[in-house]
Amino acid sequence: IPDDEEIQKEDNIRCLTTLGHFGFECFPYQLVNRSIQQGFAFNILCVGETGIGKSTLIDTLFNTNLKDNKSSHFYSNVGLKIQTYELQESNVQLKLTVVKTVGYGDQLNKETSYQPIIDYIDAQLEAYLQEELKIKRSFFEYHDSRVHVCLYFISPTGHSLKSLDLLTMKNIDSRVNIIPLIAKADTISKNDLQKFKSKIMNELISNGIQIYQFPTDDETTAQVNSSMNGLLPFAVVGSMDEVKVGKRMVRGRHYPWGVLQVENENHCDFVKLRDMLLCTNMENLKEQTHTQHYECYRCCRLQKMGFTDVGPDNQPVSFQEIYEAKRQEFYDQCQRQEEELKQRFMQLVKEKETTLKEAEKELQDKFEHLKRVQQEEIMKLEEERRQLEEEIIDFYKMKASSETLQTQVCTNTKKD
Ligand code: GDP
Repeated sequence: IPDDEEIQKEDNIRCLTTLGHFGFECFPYQLVNRSIQQGFAFNILCVGETGIGKSTLIDTLFNTNLKDNKSSHFYSNVGLKIQTYELQESNVQLKLTVVKTVGYGDQLNKETSYQPIIDYIDAQLEAYLQEELKIKRSFFEYHDSRVHVCLYFISPTGHSLKSLDLLTMKNIDSRVNIIPLIAKADTISKNDLQKFKSKIMNELISNGIQIYQFPTDDETTAQVNSSMNGLLPFAVVGSMDEVKVGKRMVRGRHYPWGVLQVENENHCDFVKLRDMLLCTNMENLKEQTHTQHYECYRCCRLQKMGFTDVGPDNQPVSFQEIYEAKRQEFYDQCQRQEEELKQRFMQLVKEKETTLKEAEKELQDKFEHLKRVQQEEIMKLEEERRQLEEEIIDFYKMKASSETLQTQVCTNTKKD
């Protein structure tokens, strides 16, 4: 490496031009190979009213028949249905998890309809955080279930967003990448659709709802992504029906007035959605999930646990220091609780002792009283007995004198 090729950079890092072949240019291929071996996971959350076309769209997207029984409109609460599938295209394996809302929009009171959705998203972020906090982490086998994208299905009313849509999106936009879709877009005319799209975007902006923006920082995709950002929300149509158009069989919906071809870009935005979601931006959706949404969740959770990067004096604090402080705090708290428990225990013992003493005194008084009553009773009986005995003696005396008198009377009578 000749000296004259050296360029001294401001930050003291020298850029050198290599004269030989070292092989580290193959590094990206190594990454690709490893990723292919490992396989990919992608998790989609579909939020939308029952019957809005969630299952059909997922089937259309992946050309599968994952469709299950029709959902009922009579659930008392919003629920979630989770299904995981292994898909393969060429030599690339994809573990696809589709989570769909069940009973969304079917309750009279919809105020808390978004809660099960938040709970699910948070539970997946929490599971990842728990894995990260383990001493022995195993991310290689770990099935990352964090939601990478939320397809939010908007009813093709042509009017505006429902309050349920705004409420839900407002509550989940900091947790997940939202791509809004106008469902069953074949039911709305071209003119109405344009107006509806801009109305939706205005409403999202005025309500401060953040939706996912296709990234424009990579020059290979910047142009297509920025033009796609201008087409949001995508107007989609789903169908698994094969319809004959000319000599070709295409997927579409057959109407008395003609055929809507799902994959015709003049008919709907289905192909745009598929390309953006699976072909161009899948990796970015995953990256955003990790670097933005997970990072935000992790930061809040760690702060709640008491961790911080800087102390009150704005100086960096090490993990060790925080751990020690937390341990001391916990120890002090235990001590305080122990002391409190001791005090409480002593107080309870004292209270119990007083109550017992009072009860004992009461019993003693009762006993004394009974003893006195009994004594008096005995004395009374003794007195009665004495009186009776005197009466008996008197009686016998009287009896004896009467007998003597009788004998004298008899004797006198005989003499006479
Ligand atoms: P989910 O309950 O949201 O999963 O809805 P489904 O996918 O089960 O669809 C409910 C009904 O709507 C079915 O009869 C579908 O054929 C129909 N459907 C689905 N997608 C579309 C669409 O894009 N346009 C029209 N017109 N109907 C659709």
